[in-house]
Amino acid sequence: MSIQTETSLQFDLNEAQKMLRQTVRALAERHVAPRAAEIDEREEYPEDVFEVLKKQQLLGVFLPEEYGGAGMGFMGGCITIEEIARFCSNCPLFIVLNMLSSRVIHLSGTEAQRRHYLTGLAKGELRGSYALTEPHAGSDAGSIRTRAERRGDRWVIRGTKCFCTGPDKADFLLVAAKTDPNAGTRGITYFIVPTGSPGFSIGRFERKMGMKGFSTCLLHFENVEVPLENQVGELHKGFRSAMIGFNQMRPAIGARAVGLAQGCLDYASNYAKEREAFGQAIANFQAIQFMLADMFIGIEAARLLVYRGASLVDAGHYARENAHYFSAAKAYAADMAMKVAIDSIQVLGGAGYMKDHPLERFMRDAKQIQIVEGTSQIQRIIIARNLLGL
Ligand SMILES: Cc1cc2nc3c(=O)[nH]c(=O)nc-3n(C[C@H](O)[C@H](O)[C@H](O)COP(=O)(O)OP(=O)(O)OC[C@H]3O[C@@H](n4cnc5c(N)ncnc54)[C@H](O)[C@@H]3O)c2cc1C
Repeated sequence: MSIQTETSLQFDLNEAQKMLRQTVRALAERHVAPRAAEIDEREEYPEDVFEVLKKQQLLGVFLPEEYGGAGMGFMGGCITIEEIARFCSNCPLFIVLNMLSSRVIHLSGTEAQRRHYLTGLAKGELRGSYALTEPHAGSDAGSIRTRAERRGDRWVIRGTKCFCTGPDKADFLLVAAKTDPNAGTRGITYFIVPTGSPGFSIGRFERKMGMKGFSTCLLHFENVEVPLENQVGELHKGFRSAMIGFNQMRPAIGARAVGLAQGCLDYASNYAKEREAFGQAIANFQAIQFMLADMFIGIEAARLLVYRGASLVDAGHYARENAHYFSAAKAYAADMAMKVAIDSIQVLGGAGYMKDHPLERFMRDAKQIQIVEGTSQIQRIIIARNLLGL
């Protein structure tokens, strides 16, 4: 069996997308670049940047206009994320988290859920977090143990989630729970859990290598009750929606990596032209030129994979048969960003190792992209499965 090859290669940026890029670039230079280092150093949630994105109506850039979004699709979302990520890896998370917490609702929720939650996220009136991972189940998401049991007109949820991003600022959580503990991936359902619910608490705030502007937390659910209408999608069918949602998300995570790597290349190139050694700018040395050229090659290749993935999502081709495109975009972009971040430090020499320059921060943040929303290994498993028709 040969792999499905989706032939659509139509992803030239249109005028609106080009204008979006210019607008976000200017906004990121003005509001994000000056803040990026202190967000990291002070481990500060960038509320000021949230307000800027809200005012510019960018929080829902990817959502349809009928739900308060800008109607620019996932391509618009990727462009926005990429431009902000050139300076800071934390600030694009406002859009990434809106994408993540809206996916399952958008794909399988009721119209009332879509109207309330998608519109709230797009307008900046609601913030969401996504709680799938558990202490013993990350890549193996089908093995989660959090339980949801129906009691009369309520669902009662109990369990523990870990590594959840931003729950302390969220109004609601999208929680995956087992509704049939004996059915593996076919016994999982999603629920909307307001963070003010009795029985819900945030446990540990993790101490992290990077991505310090957002919390990453352990969550406890001790018989948390939600009404029946907080069930999202069909009973036991949550895993499928989650996987389709991840397909949609992968170009967006790749866009974080592309932006980060572009930021590294821009910084290292400028430095190389200024820094002198042996009586000349280090940019004149072929060793430096080749490192910069290799960075460009990687970034450009990843950008094309990401845009192609986003265009497939926007065209509605995000089912399992195209999963290899989304996984390729995410894995390639994440691994490329890690390499580019490390090489850009090499271009700066000793200065690159110091916190006076942003590259060590980029390197710490790049590592997270290789892990979240499916590790680089899991992406390769998904690609191989489609490749081999397994
Ligand atoms: C900063 C941060 C923020 C996060 N935010 C969220 C969030 O908001 N919500 C959420 O639900 N989760 C979140 N996560 C969790 C993240 O999605 C998981 O960490 C990730 O899916 C990997 O799971 P794991 O950590 O349990 O690793 P494991 O699954 O234990 O994997 C460990 C290693 O084994 C490899 N591996 C596992 N299975 C296989 C296999 N079959 N074949 C080959 N190799 C394999 C992995 O690639 C990895 O290298 C976050 C994580 C981090 C670090």
